[in-house]
Amino acid sequence: MNLYVMKKIYVLFFFVLSSVVISVGQVRPRVFINPGHGGHDSNDRPSFFYNIGAGDTLRYYESDTNLAKGLALRDILEQRGYEVRISRTGNTSADDLDLFEISALANHSGADLFFSIHSNATGVVRRVNYTLALYRGWNGQPCVEGSDSIAASMIRSLDRNRITTWTHPKMKAGDWSFFRGWGYKTGLGVLRYNKLPGMLVEGEFHDYFPEKCRLMNADYCWLEGWNQSLSIDEYFGRTAKRGVGAIAGRLLDLTAESVYPGEILFGLDSFRPLNATAVTLETPDGHVVASTVTDNRDNGVYVFKNVPAGRYRVCVRDTVRDVILLPATTAYCNFSFD
Ligand SMILES: [Zn+2]
Repeated sequence: MNLYVMKKIYVLFFFVLSSVVISVGQVRPRVFINPGHGGHDSNDRPSFFYNIGAGDTLRYYESDTNLAKGLALRDILEQRGYEVRISRTGNTSADDLDLFEISALANHSGADLFFSIHSNATGVVRRVNYTLALYRGWNGQPCVEGSDSIAASMIRSLDRNRITTWTHPKMKAGDWSFFRGWGYKTGLGVLRYNKLPGMLVEGEFHDYFPEKCRLMNADYCWLEGWNQSLSIDEYFGRTAKRGVGAIAGRLLDLTAESVYPGEILFGLDSFRPLNATAVTLETPDGHVVASTVTDNRDNGVYVFKNVPAGRYRVCVRDTVRDVILLPATTAYCNFSFD
């Protein structure tokens, strides 16, 4: 074989190899999702939900809502061509892996991003509601490069939620700075052995009662998974590829007080959400695209998923609102009736 042919073969081989590498890198980013806690035990921060005195025993577990968000995020990312690993798909004691084991699984998964999903609680009588993302390291100095930028993108996306009532600005921090009292370079257990760019996000405070009511709505958890996916797309530079968004909101009755007047309530949460109320999504000329009904858990939440970008009307009772939905966004459309 002469030198010219060898050169041609070498160039062709290099070209094919580099295009495979580029296409793999572009098409299938890998994400490791860790829905926090598991097993419905005391570590899941359980709390009675409705009035136990009245015989209602429904309990809230953070592990359930973390899992609902995580499974929604997994399905959304897989539909967009991501390769996804998840640390649990159930909520038994066997699913409640040791934190070191989770780190080992993530580090060996070949993932490009580690993402631990949680919600927060004050643990005391005080009530607040805001989004917090923590990465390993000092403030502004993450142990793994990129962790602070994905944290910034994540809290931006979650803080845009206009269904909830936020009491404080969104926040991101290095866990060594945030938990300074725990000791020098101690930080969160699940991040301690992590070697991937990544972070843990506390999406909201589940011990703020109206927020707990919202988290009991499966679509509200889906919406959080969706909003998380938007920031993950932003991190991987993939935002432009999709033509769908989500339309979401909450329905309130301004003539009635909250069903939980003894609770600490902020903003419009002092009014009563509308249960079992129909919401329809229509084109501007009145063609019904989708319809849904709010649940009976005192949150008034509705969500239309995977809606093609465009102009719509959202109709509740006799009220009609125009909505413009851009691709890869969530359009919020709340209704208050008096
Ligand atoms: Zn947690």
